[in-house]
Amino acid sequence: MRTTRDALVLGLCLVAPGPRADQAPSSTTSYDLVIRGGRVMDPESGLDEVRDVGVVNGRIAELSAEPLRGTARIDARGLVVAPGFIDLHAHGVDAENYALRAADGVTTSLELEIGTADVDGFYAEREGRTLVNFGASIGHVPVRMAVMGDPPGFLPASTAKAAAEPATDAQVQEVARRIRAGLDRGAPAVGMGIQYTQAASRFEIVEVFREAARAGAAVHVHMRYNGTKEPLSSTTALEEVLAAAAVTGAPLHVVHVHSTSVAFTARHLRLIEEAHARGLDVTTECYPYTAGMTDISSGVFDEGWRDSLGIDYGDLLWPATGERLTAETFARYRPKGGLVAIFSIPEGAVRAALAHPLVMVASDSVLRDGLGHPRSAGTNARVLGLYVREQKVLPLMEALRKLSLMPAQRLERRVPAFRDKGRVRLGADADLTLFDPARVVDRSTYSTPATPPEGILYVLVAGVPVVERGRVRRDVTPGRAVRAPLR
Ligand SMILES: [Zn+2]
Repeated sequence: MRTTRDALVLGLCLVAPGPRADQAPSSTTSYDLVIRGGRVMDPESGLDEVRDVGVVNGRIAELSAEPLRGTARIDARGLVVAPGFIDLHAHGVDAENYALRAADGVTTSLELEIGTADVDGFYAEREGRTLVNFGASIGHVPVRMAVMGDPPGFLPASTAKAAAEPATDAQVQEVARRIRAGLDRGAPAVGMGIQYTQAASRFEIVEVFREAARAGAAVHVHMRYNGTKEPLSSTTALEEVLAAAAVTGAPLHVVHVHSTSVAFTARHLRLIEEAHARGLDVTTECYPYTAGMTDISSGVFDEGWRDSLGIDYGDLLWPATGERLTAETFARYRPKGGLVAIFSIPEGAVRAALAHPLVMVASDSVLRDGLGHPRSAGTNARVLGLYVREQKVLPLMEALRKLSLMPAQRLERRVPAFRDKGRVRLGADADLTLFDPARVVDRSTYSTPATPPEGILYVLVAGVPVVERGRVRRDVTPGRAVRAPLR
């Protein structure tokens, strides 16, 4: 690769970010990197043609049907060249997890559901040290834990104050103030996990939506109830957040619609579609698996969970040992806490969500010390291999839209950097994912959740390969903070 200085000089020669679209590429122009002869697929323009991609200074400077010359070259013949995948919902925010997401084609990994209580701290810890682009929302769950006086942690146990105690008016105002402060510090969105903070009043939820609306930030929300048991069903929960969005004007993004809605997924997709048609800015997401995963000590397992989800102890899998649970082992593990897989999502719900035009793909990845959910390593490859190629649930271009363009569009009004992501076009960031459409497939399982997929051969972040010939590199850190403008 050229040095930064050389790249800058080249950038100037090319009149950065590249030659005008009507200008034929000069045969004498040399690029930092040329991606040779791949099938370029751009979900925004619909381009689906064999092209050479010329990269200069981390950006796409040329897309040419004629061969280009470059200092470095990647032979992409037989591969799809897609926009790098943008994961809106990834709980793994350390080097191990970013490497797994990169192997699955991700160039931007965001923790927008639970988020952080300390936006500046989150970004400072990672700046200049990551493989992929990164970011986190200002999170109502961690903010409420801090305001209510719980110790910091990923999720509150259902007996913790953040989960079990209503806030006073003063505490609600303090929660709102901290959400506002996080937004002022450039958090891309507001995160909520209302099921983990069940004592939060409807009023408190609306106050948080108000802050999001003021900042033009979407609220990425895990809803208050899951399952199909009325009156406290996932429909009630969806109505709560649709109402909060309608009243306040905040954009709404419902996380993992299928794992919350289970057998109600199709009817909830219709509600979301109807709200959207009436002008509400509402979107949603899913991951391609029939099991969810969360902490066994959390509010998800409060009294009545078997009834509302329509499952039993044997539908829970304890990854630490691989055992299916019983009433006895559940009672033993619940007070200690730990990640548990929940087989509650009908396959039809996964397929309905993946096929729906308002649904994006987001991994909800979670992996600690090698234990976790296979979605952490396999989400995108599974969509492309199982649901596009094998089951034909959705066309390849539509899948790429859900993996790249739609997440960029969800965030681009608040975070202008996303206008140049999720697209393969002149001037866009050279965040690119190259995969073999005939071979791409997930390999991670519930017993081996960290096994990387096959068929994703190159992943580039700002033109720098972070995955090369299917192998994750550990010697580069091209990832950048993605953050809204500071106020
Ligand atoms: Zn969740």
